[in-house]
Amino acid sequence: MAPHYDAVVVGAGFGGMGAGIELDRLGLRDFVILERESDLGGTWHVNRYPGLAVDIASVTYSYSFEPNPHWSRLFAPGAELKRYAEHVADKYDLRRRMRFDTVVEGARWDAEHHRWVVTIQGGEVLTARYLATATGFLSQPYTPPFPGIDTFAGKIIHTTAWDDGYDLTGRRAAVIGTGATAVQLVPEVARKAAELTVFQRTPIWVVPKIDVAIPPAVQKVFDRVPLTQKAARLVNTTMLEALMVIGVLHYREAKPLNRGAGVLAKVHLRAQVRDADTRRKLTPHYDFGCKRPTFSNTYFRTFNRPNVRLETNSIERIEPDGIVTADGHKTEIDTLILATGFNLWDVNFPAIEIIGRDGVNLGKFWRDNRFQAYEGITVPKFPNFLSLNSPYSYSGLSYFTTIEAQMKHMGRLFGEMFRRDAQVFEVTERANTEFLDRVTEKLGSSVFYEGQCSTAHSYYFNQHGEAALLRPTSTLNAHREAVSFPLEDYTYATA
Ligand SMILES: Cc1cc2nc3c(=O)[nH]c(=O)nc-3n(C[C@H](O)[C@H](O)[C@H](O)COP(=O)(O)OP(=O)(O)OC[C@H]3O[C@@H](n4cnc5c(N)ncnc54)[C@H](O)[C@@H]3O)c2cc1C
Repeated sequence: MAPHYDAVVVGAGFGGMGAGIELDRLGLRDFVILERESDLGGTWHVNRYPGLAVDIASVTYSYSFEPNPHWSRLFAPGAELKRYAEHVADKYDLRRRMRFDTVVEGARWDAEHHRWVVTIQGGEVLTARYLATATGFLSQPYTPPFPGIDTFAGKIIHTTAWDDGYDLTGRRAAVIGTGATAVQLVPEVARKAAELTVFQRTPIWVVPKIDVAIPPAVQKVFDRVPLTQKAARLVNTTMLEALMVIGVLHYREAKPLNRGAGVLAKVHLRAQVRDADTRRKLTPHYDFGCKRPTFSNTYFRTFNRPNVRLETNSIERIEPDGIVTADGHKTEIDTLILATGFNLWDVNFPAIEIIGRDGVNLGKFWRDNRFQAYEGITVPKFPNFLSLNSPYSYSGLSYFTTIEAQMKHMGRLFGEMFRRDAQVFEVTERANTEFLDRVTEKLGSSVFYEGQCSTAHSYYFNQHGEAALLRPTSTLNAHREAVSFPLEDYTYATA
């Protein structure tokens, strides 16, 4: 019995859309993209908080094969990313393959019929020859279990569920969390609220953001002479690559560059915040790069405002009208904004239950052994499965580097499979182990192991203290290997 689809893709963000474009290119045209939200765009559909913008220049944070000459700023606001996602979906004919409001619960490999059996919430079952999960890294919102949060009588907003109709003017607001989202959001809330208290557990490294509007004349040049935008992308990508590869991954060999970035952030803080005690509290006590770097010209400055206070005592409980910290002090509020981020390692990896060959459960396998995936995309015992949000997959700083390397990997893998007239692939244990050994060794010289990251509370680290998210190589290496990995790293069979 033929499966319903050539492929099922889970997630309609830039990852799932990239997989869809590649499947089309490979001639696997009969696929469906299942998405639990009511529209496409993933991160850029779900997040709508004030101040949301990309923190990688837009010439780089976009598909290289689909440049957008009309970005309004160097760092485009979130709404433009959402419109870009819609444009890509339309241009590459993905929209008609998408099914929204569809929560995938799990998938099981049917060895007899060589296909994936995908279960959707509500009981529907779909079958497909191939399965690709693109469920995101930062897609499962996290709210810490603060005692008493259920009793809070005011308005609670998680940054992933922004209430556009709620007016912050004159409110006594709290923002809990000081990660990348808070860095963008806090200045916006401070502008409107009567009082704002920012609750900080871990200070964050913030470097200046060189952001300008892109004048229409430059947009015209990008449009008419695409090579100019390509050149801009190359320059920007090279700078990001240097920061990541030299400053973070080769920390042992290039400490001065890492330290230099830290000094830049400290000078930025010094120049922006008047009060010495506030500056001290905003100074990170872990190395630059342990967490994803953030960029802002307005975050630090916000703490000079008379209506803004930084609270660094830990939160003990939440009461109907306020937050009580460990020192017994109560901050009275009517609006509680949770910038508490995402749960990566407990809920994601994988985001759905995936059962492979011999009944192996992917989540259990990763937790009982180590988090691992060959080239950050395939796993032994999981035939015909592409895990796009995998351990060791995130390459460089722009997510598009990752998805485009994975699209290339798909191209080479499926190309070889078709050449052999096969329909089933599986990565070998040997190739997977060799890759895991290699990344483990490489991570040894990164800031994650050579630096001081223990107090960073960084999502780069999993529950075992391993920095298992980033691929510890240059993005050039990731792309080179995607088109040159040994073909015998896979087995190929007919269905
Ligand atoms: C606020 C914010 C700002 C960011 N800024 C940057 C940036 O500047 N640069 C950068 O490189 N990265 C940034 N990121 C990371 C960003 O997530 C990636 O760049 C990229 O958008 C990831 O795409 P994705 O398709 O892998 O995941 P996502 O965009 O997260 O999409 C995953 C999709 O899977 C769906 N899904 C999950 N589980 C299920 C299920 N069980 N069933 C059905 N559907 C499911 C989700 O609803 C979601 O739509 C940012 C993230 C956030 C949250």
